[in-house]
Amino acid sequence: MPVAAIEWQGLRYRYGQESDITFDDLKLAAGQHLLLRGASGSGKSTLLALLAGLLSPTTGQIQVAGQSLQDLSPRERDAWRGAQLGFVPQRLHLSASLSVAHNLDLPYVCAGLPPDRARAALLLDQLGLAAVSRRLPHQLSVGQAQRVALARALIRRPKLLLADEPSASLDDDNTAAMLDLLLDGAASQGATLVLASHDARVALRMGQRSDVVEHRLPTLPLPP
Ligand code: ADP
Ligand code: MG
Repeated sequence: MPVAAIEWQGLRYRYGQESDITFDDLKLAAGQHLLLRGASGSGKSTLLALLAGLLSPTTGQIQVAGQSLQDLSPRERDAWRGAQLGFVPQRLHLSASLSVAHNLDLPYVCAGLPPDRARAALLLDQLGLAAVSRRLPHQLSVGQAQRVALARALIRRPKLLLADEPSASLDDDNTAAMLDLLLDGAASQGATLVLASHDARVALRMGQRSDVVEHRLPTLPLPP
């Protein structure tokens, strides 16, 4: 039996005094990608943060490529995240004072490693960003900034690539291109892609693929 790419059981998360967000169990085989669907507020971003080990579940277990996240100490979890995980967040968090190229150094710098400029150049080239590598983030189009965020997520060759609402600010053509880049980026690393979206365009395109599993999050009850 190949190790499942991702699985979770009995997963719940609670923000402060709010009621629990409960997630249905999931087992995703290696080689599959995951589309998390659900209305705004259904818990998609929360689930991504749990998968990234940025939040700890109130109850339940998560395994990523056979690694139980709750078995890691906070320090081990940070190292695990840096080495295994690429995250394209909804708000891109590019460092405004750093050029595109220097933004790609950050995943190494944060881990106390020397930057891999050759790899950065290759990724920038593959993503059509070579010409803008010296620009600052505010000098980029939305689509370019999103590709820089993708390059930064891929640079350390993650095994798990998470993307939160990657189409949020993109038109139809750029949405299709972004999904292809995410899928190609994951394929080039042998990585599992987990994509959270409430966008019907994303569901339509991802739903056409036999290697994508869709997991729906129910709409949460409104607080009283
Ligand atoms: P989605 O990404 O599907 O829009 P979220 O995971 O962002 O959903 O949010 C799920 C629920 O948790 C929502 O009801 C939201 O208001 C709540 N929530 C999210 N972040 C916090 C927070 N930091 N504190 C309290 N409640 C939060
Ligand atoms: Mg969200």
